[in-house]
Amino acid sequence: MNDQPDAVTLVDNQGWDPRILVVRCGDLVDAFIVVSERYVVLVDTLINPQTAAAMLRIAREQLTGGRQLLAINTHADWDHFWGNQLFAGPDVAHPAPIFASRRSADRFRAPEEGQQFLAEMREHEPGRFDDVRITRPTVLFDGRLLIDGGDLTLELFPTPGHQPDHVAIFIPEIGALLAGDAAESPFPLVHTADGLPLLRASLARTAALKPNTVLYCHAPVTSGPELLQANIAYFDELERRCRAARASGAAARPAEAEDVEALIAFPLAEAIPTDIKADELPDLYRRGHRTAIRAMLEWLEHS
Ligand SMILES: [Zn+2]
Repeated sequence: MNDQPDAVTLVDNQGWDPRILVVRCGDLVDAFIVVSERYVVLVDTLINPQTAAAMLRIAREQLTGGRQLLAINTHADWDHFWGNQLFAGPDVAHPAPIFASRRSADRFRAPEEGQQFLAEMREHEPGRFDDVRITRPTVLFDGRLLIDGGDLTLELFPTPGHQPDHVAIFIPEIGALLAGDAAESPFPLVHTADGLPLLRASLARTAALKPNTVLYCHAPVTSGPELLQANIAYFDELERRCRAARASGAAARPAEAEDVEALIAFPLAEAIPTDIKADELPDLYRRGHRTAIRAMLEWLEHS
């Protein structure tokens, strides 16, 4: 076991524009710091105040020349926004507006659910989340938002599907896309039949930008734009196999106990690139693949 599972490190630049800093939290998630003439922009705030503070230490070195600190939440999943309390609220380490999609407000409509989830996470991993205080983003926008940093423009645009509030960020001056969790390795996670077509449309939207640099929250920094195409191909193949299975009688809503990978003849090992071993992947992706199969079968029933 790793002694410091949440160690926050600055990833060596591997060829992307040096104004983007990649901040890695253990093997869990990457966040980004975009340094423009006017702003230092945190793209996500990591998982708790300790990791957010480590990210802030890296960002602070860039707060020169009158630059202001801004934060963005790509979406309100715990691994992307549980560091928010450093930037808004009573234990603020460095105040900054926190931008997020207006759709994120829906995710805070039942605060007791968020508290319940936090309580479960604290119980599951004592110590790790004890200091987290769930802190909502403070500036919500509909549709697109452009942040004019002077030399770089951050275009925040909706990319729902993984979650309804998801936004990705495109920086046109350097053709860079920060994909968040709209795309990931080996495939992005979809939770419902309704989310599936949204996620696929979001993948198409990001690929249509023809970015030359793509950085993801859950993929190696060397994945490149090719991963967008691989994610698109995953869902296309999933659809093909689900259609074939339906043609031979597979139900739209298979029973809970049903082996859906066998049902549509699409085992996880075939769904991922050959250089990734299915049994070495976090269980999250096996569950994710099965959920995606069920979502696709249900979606085909209605489309
Ligand atoms: Zn995530």
